Amino acid sequence: MIIAIDGPAAAGKGTLTRKLAKYYNLALLDTGLIYRAVGLKAVLNGDPSDSEIAIQAAKSLDLADLKIHGIRGELAAKSASLVAAIPAVRDVLLEFQREFAHNPPDGKLGSILDGRDIGTVVCPDAKIKLFITASLEVRTDRRYKELQERGEEAIRSAVLNDIKTRDERDIARALSPLKPAGDAKIIDSSDFNASEVFSLAQEFISSQMK
Ligand code: C5P
Repeated sequence: MIIAIDGPAAAGKGTLTRKLAKYYNLALLDTGLIYRAVGLKAVLNGDPSDSEIAIQAAKSLDLADLKIHGIRGELAAKSASLVAAIPAVRDVLLEFQREFAHNPPDGKLGSILDGRDIGTVVCPDAKIKLFITASLEVRTDRRYKELQERGEEAIRSAVLNDIKTRDERDIARALSPLKPAGDAKIIDSSDFNASEVFSLAQEFISSQMK
């Protein structure tokens, strides 16, 4: 069983993915972390928009890099979306993601991956595809609250701008742009809390498993 979860920044994909992984006992891969790690490594070596630097960072990626300090921060998010627009970087990272999806670690019988292109490119054969979205205002509020809870200083208008710029870059890139797969179930989570989104997703998964 492979579950593909896609959607824009701060739509609630991470929370849903963790809940589903636990419920269905699946190996979880947050593919955003991979791009964030490559982005941060590229920043350390110079400019994340420089293809050579970004490709080198992708080739030398190690699982331990997914725990680099600051990986959940905004610098990592921004540099991730810069390296993610470079086709050769995506190529290097594709095999790793597919291998995880089809041969999940820890003896798990299935996998769940979340990102931007899981249903469209990484696992077009996934049995279950969900596209989680929410309005820009709602997503900004969620990310702002999350940053405050982590004790990080944040300005709401800057958070909104960061999310907007990142989404625009993710949607506009030529290779693997952010978009729902034709056979994905789209859930707009603007008016739902995490438990309600989980219930909607679970209902859809049950309907697909029959
Ligand atoms: O999901 P997260 O916000 O951590 O992703 C950070 C960035 O990594 C995204 O804005 C996107 O540019 C890139 N990404 C991607 N493809 C994925 C996952 C993330 O391009 N499958």
